[in-house]
Amino acid sequence: TVVYLNGKRVDYSDAKVSVEDRGFQFGDGLYEVVRVYEGRFFYLDRHLERLKKGAQEIYLKFDFDIEDLKEVCKKAVADGEFKDASVYIQVTRGAAPRQHNFPEKTSCTWVVIAREANPQPEEYYENGVSAITVPDERWMRCNVKTVQLIPNCIAKEKAKRAGAFEAIFHRGGIVTEASSSNVFIVKSNKLLTHPANNFILHGITRGVVLEIAEKLDLELREETFSLDQLLDADEVFITGTMTEVMPVVKVDGKIIGDGVPGNLTRNIIEEFRKLTKTVDQ
Ligand code: PMP
Repeated sequence: TVVYLNGKRVDYSDAKVSVEDRGFQFGDGLYEVVRVYEGRFFYLDRHLERLKKGAQEIYLKFDFDIEDLKEVCKKAVADGEFKDASVYIQVTRGAAPRQHNFPEKTSCTWVVIAREANPQPEEYYENGVSAITVPDERWMRCNVKTVQLIPNCIAKEKAKRAGAFEAIFHRGGIVTEASSSNVFIVKSNKLLTHPANNFILHGITRGVVLEIAEKLDLELREETFSLDQLLDADEVFITGTMTEVMPVVKVDGKIIGDGVPGNLTRNIIEEFRKLTKTVDQ
């Protein structure tokens, strides 16, 4: 594991931040997880763009150069000689004596942690996984990728305890996304996914799937759908940087479609995998 703290390489055991860091005390920070395939970054620029937008949303002013952050991400992967890696980026408003108001003078804490990727087992992609549904108890600004992830962690833990891979959120019966992925359904060869508004994270993988759908000339609508539509779908899949494109074949114990990954899902996975072998940006 390679760690850079505020732009400097530090030993893992020495990589520490203040007890008064606002990320620690208030969850006052943002993060990104970027995937590296065979040494190539998969849409790092899009992740950094989302990070910048999130910072504007929470009035977090970067006091470092985003280009330096980008360089550090690359250095971290090179240092570790990782081929397939995950790169975790976190930026917080920094450390200051505890008070809710933003401190006048403080500098951001920014961290990059690179490690060997831990991909999902191939059989999950071949056979599909199961999911449960849970009420979406998060705040109303889920488009901001803050480090405040307790509702997501609780949901994921519920999934684990139910023997499921993922927990799918719904707000009053409308499916939003999942605890760490976006959700798509297929019905009569049409793809549906929740619109990119404040109720979901605008996933980079979600965006890539939109591009794939366009390339494959699939009918795709960014439109809300209900829990009933989810359970009644022909195909369901979830998307995320570490999840990639993952077929879901069972939701709340109910078999989806034929209980195996559907054709559209498999085509999208195939196209996605091509991109992982070429994209380098
Ligand atoms: N939604 C949530 C709540 C997530 O945590 C994630 C993973 N970061 C995603 C969606 C997928 O986003 P991405 O494709 O950018 O990894």
